[in-house]
Amino acid sequence: MEKQDLWKSIVGELEVTSASSYISAFLPKTNLGNIDSVNKTFEIIFPNNLSRDNIKNKLGEKIELLVKERLGEKYQILYSISKDSIEKPKYTSNAPLFSNNFERINEIKESPINFESHLLKEYSFDNYIVGPNNQLAYSVARAIAENPGVSYNPFLIYSGVGLGKTHLLQAIGNEIVKNFPEKKVLYTTSQDFLNDLMDALQHRRNKGGTLREFKNKYIKIDVWLIDDVQLIAGRDTTQDEFYFAFNTLYLNKKQIVLTTDRHPSEIKKLEERIKSRFKMGMIADMQSPDIDVRCAILRAKRDLMEAKIDNETIDYIAQRVFGSIRELEGAFLQVVTQAKINNEICDINCAKRVLEKSLVQEQEKNIKPVKIVQEISKFYNIEIREIKGPKRDKNLVYSRHISMYLLKEIARLPLITIGEILGGRDHTTIMHGIQKIENEISNKNYKLIKEISIIKQSIFGEIV
Ligand code: ADP
Ligand code: MG
Repeated sequence: MEKQDLWKSIVGELEVTSASSYISAFLPKTNLGNIDSVNKTFEIIFPNNLSRDNIKNKLGEKIELLVKERLGEKYQILYSISKDSIEKPKYTSNAPLFSNNFERINEIKESPINFESHLLKEYSFDNYIVGPNNQLAYSVARAIAENPGVSYNPFLIYSGVGLGKTHLLQAIGNEIVKNFPEKKVLYTTSQDFLNDLMDALQHRRNKGGTLREFKNKYIKIDVWLIDDVQLIAGRDTTQDEFYFAFNTLYLNKKQIVLTTDRHPSEIKKLEERIKSRFKMGMIADMQSPDIDVRCAILRAKRDLMEAKIDNETIDYIAQRVFGSIRELEGAFLQVVTQAKINNEICDINCAKRVLEKSLVQEQEKNIKPVKIVQEISKFYNIEIREIKGPKRDKNLVYSRHISMYLLKEIARLPLITIGEILGGRDHTTIMHGIQKIENEISNKNYKLIKEISIIKQSIFGEIV
């Protein structure tokens, strides 16, 4: 048997017999290296650490057996990384752990001049762990990246927050840019689309003409990736423009991929004509990952960060932290960072200690929403009915936004429920309010951060 055929046959057997479906995502990119019949070594070459460790951990024994079966005697398996694998950005000990300075790949040479794709390199298929929870969405995403605009058009992915929609959407874009450098790929959040449109409309009033530019921007692309499209609901002009761009692209066989936080039929105030467009193509949902996938995600994260944390501790974190992948990653980062700051080994004890704090978070779930609004009302000396009411005085709006933010953060209520609590407001209004506060926090508005911290203390009756 030829060398590569030998490996192909082993891969084939592994794929068919292996239980974890995400393993199959890593196997096809492997190659056979050197087979040394004197030293009895059998080398497999992997495109990256992530793929190597996944395969080695999950399938190492099986591979050894299959090699023995095929070659008639036991060989030591060498797991190598391809020399021409693209270096991933590495986190060094000096680099900030939470760096948000993602390198944008708008400057990709091959892309048409002055065209901003808004893609982030960090989100690729290579670091996307596939499991039963997202297998369908992943497979369709892959097929689209191979052949944009051909089948599965449009493609809509929906899931709860923090379950990997943005990651998958961006991965599609990055892969298409790689496979088809001539294609114009545009990633847009609905908020970007909305802001763009608002700008265009204002300019039209003042100067004239730019609405056409707006329209042109969106219909001259080859692949449109739109994140969180539910946010256009309830906005007539935005929906009109969206419908126009969508149809134009669709008729020209341009690929469209969208994400939403729920099935389109459940999005209130989204025009029927738009819903029916979404349903013309493929729809896939994504669920919370099981424990195997959660562990795999954290191991991948560890490799990317080159963090020193063993598998046992990772498994502990994956078992201990529920909620979305974003929350899981957050807990993992907390543990790793604490160990680093305290200069201690990142083991189960360390994880236990750090995660115990999250017991506080579990308590948070028992806090009643009314308590949150009461404490905000007391702190700012504003009546609850004013916070809930329609008036738009600056201090009222401010305390209202804080209420939105803390109802989300502490009580973890859905936006719609928060809207209902706060005087029957629309979920997009709530979304924007929360966004405002989040922006202030990330812009280090210390006054606000301090106020929130004091309010939290009075909500919990202790220092958090
Ligand atoms: P959503 O858009 O659904 O809210 P994101 O795509 O922002 O979720 O994912 C939240 C975080 O979890 C990101 O850091 C993302 O990279 C990570 N993540 C989500 N799904 C996966 C996955 N299947 N494999 C690896 N990382 C994932
Ligand atoms: Mg997202």
